[in-house]
Amino acid sequence: MPTGVRMPFTELKMKPIRGMFVVLCIVASGSALVAAPKDFSGADAFAYTERAVALGPRPDGSSAIAKLRATIKAQLATRGCEVTGDSFTAQTPEGPISMENIIAKFPGKSGRAIVISGHYDTKKLPGFVGANDGGSSTGMLLEFAAALQGRVRVDDVYVVFLDGEEAVRKEWAGTDNTYGSRHLAAKWLQDGTTRRIKGLINVDMTGDKNLRLVYDDNSTPSLRKLVWDVADSLGYSAAFPRQPTMMEDDHISFITAGVRAVDLIDFDSQSTFWHTPQDTMDKLDPHSFEIIGRVVMKSIEELEQQK
Ligand SMILES: [Zn+2]
Repeated sequence: MPTGVRMPFTELKMKPIRGMFVVLCIVASGSALVAAPKDFSGADAFAYTERAVALGPRPDGSSAIAKLRATIKAQLATRGCEVTGDSFTAQTPEGPISMENIIAKFPGKSGRAIVISGHYDTKKLPGFVGANDGGSSTGMLLEFAAALQGRVRVDDVYVVFLDGEEAVRKEWAGTDNTYGSRHLAAKWLQDGTTRRIKGLINVDMTGDKNLRLVYDDNSTPSLRKLVWDVADSLGYSAAFPRQPTMMEDDHISFITAGVRAVDLIDFDSQSTFWHTPQDTMDKLDPHSFEIIGRVVMKSIEELEQQK
């Protein structure tokens, strides 16, 4: 059980008052008494990541990713959100593979929506556990769900665990990547969700020490500006430099469908140990999780102010 997980509990306290015993019963689940919303915790996001990584390599088709899906759904079931599974069969160079995006919806009132996404699959490589690449995004998303629980919202906020980001065969090429985001973007275009989305923030490889994000030129400029300005206002400019680079990641699937989207990713191979067996928990820092968590939570509030 990671820290910060609030399980329903019933506490019975016997308190003596003037020789009498008053029974005080606190029920912290259901409607009787709702716990105050918690702030995003980098330590808790790190702990969730640790738990995912402990399952070992989590490529699509593995028993470990099936266990991880069950863990994600069990966690989300405690968060007071609507959880939907988006299952599909991906046609990959290695044949058909079952995949599933997991979508948690925290409802607002405006009819508009904001999305936080990230991928939870890991690249199929010998000895690769993907602490930063696949692990950190999973931990971040689980902690976003914890921090969103019990808050009054303007817009719907979706926390989306994307499957199949990684190429199945060797490295990223053609359509052998972003299976989950492409599937969900097409689905949302068809069911009208796309039109309701004010912005999508994708997180990927944001848990490493010496966090320095890519200033991605493929991201929607106005949304990138909003997030980078929020980072500056919180004193995190060092982690959010403004040297343009172009990234291909899950956000592209949504941008292609007409959604404003930004990718938050540290792609410095020196600090991320990208696609090597050295991408392990000891390379991560809870403070990096905390920085991204605070910036994203504040960015959601700013987006909610927009029409
Ligand atoms: Zn990767």
